[in-house]
Amino acid sequence: MENSVDLNNVKVAFSHKNDGELRKTIFIYRLIQRPFLVVILSKVAGWILKYKIPLKFLLKNTVFKIFCAGQNRKEAQITMNKLKEHNVNTVLDYVAEGDNSEASFKINLETILENIRFVSLENKEPFVGVKLSGLEDVDFIKTVGYSDSSSDAEEKRRKEQFIERVNEICALAVSKNVKVYFDAEEKSTQDFYDLIVEEMMRKYNKTNSLIYTTLQMYMKDRVAYLEYLVEDAKEKEYLIGVKLVRGAYMEKERKYAEIAGVKSPVFETKIQTDYSFNQAVTICLKEYAIVATCLATHNQQSVELALKLIEQNNIINHYERVFFSQLYGMSDNLTFNLAKGHYNSSKYVPYGEVEKAIPYLLRRAEENSSIEGQTSRELELLTQEKSRRKK
Ligand SMILES: Cc1cc2nc3c(=O)[nH]c(=O)nc-3n(C[C@H](O)[C@H](O)[C@H](O)COP(=O)(O)OP(=O)(O)OC[C@H]3O[C@@H](n4cnc5c(N)ncnc54)[C@H](O)[C@@H]3O)c2cc1C
Repeated sequence: MENSVDLNNVKVAFSHKNDGELRKTIFIYRLIQRPFLVVILSKVAGWILKYKIPLKFLLKNTVFKIFCAGQNRKEAQITMNKLKEHNVNTVLDYVAEGDNSEASFKINLETILENIRFVSLENKEPFVGVKLSGLEDVDFIKTVGYSDSSSDAEEKRRKEQFIERVNEICALAVSKNVKVYFDAEEKSTQDFYDLIVEEMMRKYNKTNSLIYTTLQMYMKDRVAYLEYLVEDAKEKEYLIGVKLVRGAYMEKERKYAEIAGVKSPVFETKIQTDYSFNQAVTICLKEYAIVATCLATHNQQSVELALKLIEQNNIINHYERVFFSQLYGMSDNLTFNLAKGHYNSSKYVPYGEVEKAIPYLLRRAEENSSIEGQTSRELELLTQEKSRRKK
């Protein structure tokens, strides 16, 4: 099996960037490495949203440029084509967060459906990412349960409408052979989303894993949930799609738990989260016949573990069963070296209007500005490549 990949080969990692792009990326990463600048950016982002002040260009030329592929599908397509040249697949991800109107939910649904049609025509390995909070008001979702016990007709109608929207996405994706990654969000809504995506997997993953749920492995209960899913799939004879992440809402989850006076659902230490993530990788790759897995991570050790397990478990058809994905603008060393090594490697390619991408951008900027964050690692690799080119 072809498992000799050098994940630190910077020449391969940045071959898609010309010298100017490389310099600009280094410049912006140096900016967001400074926590105080990220605080300023967050403030500016807040003002843009609240007072509609025209400071959009500030975001557009800094974090947006690094982490988003453009404001519309046409701009994103340029990135998709560039990735394709390096055998990197695209998970097309329309980002539209924070607008809680029925009109925007309808637009989001139509955009996702259009994206499914679009990627099915453009890509050999088509994927889309979907955020369920873009299809119905999260405050409403928090109040409803999955059972049909509600006597409120309006509540029932809205709940059915939401499930029908998810169903429409899945039905179209399956008819076009497109894989759908349903993202995981905050726990207050995720428990409900889990039940719906489970139901979609039972319905649509009969012969092919096209519908993927996301498990946030920083949650204490996720390994047990994964084991339940595997048993359920065996019993009810369907296939599972699992996207594994560590989780992006740690601080918020801890705060919510503290306010509610309950124990935090998130592990206390990074080591525990890493252990849980790697446990899930081990389970999924052992059960590869029924579980298709996406390792959505920038953690090199977890990627190396998966490569080792692919070999140990002799997963000859790993291109169809194990996927690797990193966010656009991050960990190019993993994405491009994996693709070069003939693994199924992709980028999550977010696009959308700057205003609607703000919560997404802030998550990325904050993640990259923290001390334990990614930035120093990214910068190290980028500067290595810059000096390599100079030589
Ligand atoms: C392609 C892709 C798709 C993604 N989709 C989603 C999604 O749908 N939902 C979502 O929530 N996130 C998503 N993320 C983000 C992801 O959850 C992580 O925030 C991010 O990838 C960083 O984790 P890591 O595995 O890359 O690596 P690392 O940098 O090794 O891990 C950082 C992560 O470890 C955890 N952690 C850090 N400190 C502690 C601590 N003290 N105690 C416990 N845990 C700790 C946190 O989850 C933190 O984000 C996605 C990421 C990628 C690459």
